[in-house]
Amino acid sequence: KRVEIPLAEHQIDKTLLDDHAVRVVKTLVDAGFEAFIVGGAVRDLVVGKRPKDFDVATNATPEDVKRLFRRAFIIGRRFRIVHVVFGRGREHEVIEVSTFRALLVNDDAEQVAGNEKTSKAEMAGKSHVVDASGRVLRDNVWGPQIEDAARRDFTINAMYYDPVREVVVDYHKGLADARKKVLRMIGDPETRYREDPVRIIRVVRFAAKLGFDIEPKTRAPIKKMAEQLVNVPASRMFDEMIKLLQTGHSLASLEELRKQGLHKGIFPILDVVLEDAHRKDGRDAFVKRALEDTDLRVNEGRGVSPSFMLACMLWHDVLDHWNRLKAGGEAPVPALQQAIETVFDARIGDISGRGRLAGDMREIWMMQPRFERRSGNGPLGLVDQPRYRAGFDFLRLRADAGEVDPALADWWEDFALGSDDERQALLEVAR
Ligand code: ATP
Ligand code: MG
Repeated sequence: KRVEIPLAEHQIDKTLLDDHAVRVVKTLVDAGFEAFIVGGAVRDLVVGKRPKDFDVATNATPEDVKRLFRRAFIIGRRFRIVHVVFGRGREHEVIEVSTFRALLVNDDAEQVAGNEKTSKAEMAGKSHVVDASGRVLRDNVWGPQIEDAARRDFTINAMYYDPVREVVVDYHKGLADARKKVLRMIGDPETRYREDPVRIIRVVRFAAKLGFDIEPKTRAPIKKMAEQLVNVPASRMFDEMIKLLQTGHSLASLEELRKQGLHKGIFPILDVVLEDAHRKDGRDAFVKRALEDTDLRVNEGRGVSPSFMLACMLWHDVLDHWNRLKAGGEAPVPALQQAIETVFDARIGDISGRGRLAGDMREIWMMQPRFERRSGNGPLGLVDQPRYRAGFDFLRLRADAGEVDPALADWWEDFALGSDDERQALLEVAR
């Protein structure tokens, strides 16, 4: 049932709104379409948080939307949406605009084998496709708002906010659940997890991020449905893992995974971390510090780089292989190179489009032995590297965790900040 909630009840603070998102809504409404801020942004607004990004839902088609904005790009195949872009460079902002989608009845969908290789050809020209396990592979059938609401995952994620009239449109008692602090799946939870097993990870993420409880019926099928996650493409799982670690509550997220019995075999990278967390040899301290650091940065609104975070998580794995190879007589640098390749193969695998991220991780790791050499032109070359800062932050973390002498990190800090004369003096003392 459609309920319109007035300002007196939802109490959304308009100063938390984003000008560009409001402008997108107004432009669409002025052109005769319906348009709302939707999803996670409305959820954050009703609990008084500033949303980190804004999505807009409309009855305009992607082509309609594209026509109305100067810089608008239709993206995605599985799920076609429009990116409306404002500003340039580092300051640019993207508002995601999606067209109301019809409620899918999977019996009407075209079924394909779901094999990553064959399905592209099989899906050509079709707008609604599922695989043999019921997982939705393509989803581009437009429909009314009420159906768009029913297909969203949790009740608190299915509210629409009209910033002009200042009303929240709520079909699933999302506002009441937000006030009660519960995560409730819309519809039959088991069916919804089967349609998209990633919802299992999402419920964990939101529980940790918002500090909400998972409602019992929503919680019940999680453990059993977790095995469906093997059907999800590795690249999507990878993205979800990154999001889980960048909620600003990464330790709470890992705790929640453990609570739901999801800490083994879901994310190969987290397997190492969660193993480390039970060791008492200082390794748990390193990863814990890295995650606390990440949380701090997220909560202060500073950026976090996935490459730095992952470099931290996999460091001890790299270190183990490195030490073993060195003990076997290999020279340090080639040994490190080889150790890195082994860890990439075992923990990350072949995830296309991750070249840049892997390259950044390699650089952070490969810089570590160079910090040990403080003579000649080495230090000057190192501080001039574009990725020096990340490499140094990593060294500092190792020092904090007791893995290297803190004086070494201090030395580099002084060296990087020093004048030519100070640098010369530092090189003298290091000798
Ligand atoms: P965040 O604050 O982390 O971005 P979010 O709720 O905005 O959280 P998004 O992934 O940005 O999450 O998705 C936006 C909205 O799209 C969600 O609020 C939800 O309504 C809908 N949605 C996203 N993923 C799914 C899914 N797997 N199943 C159903 N609905 C989804
Ligand atoms: Mg979002």
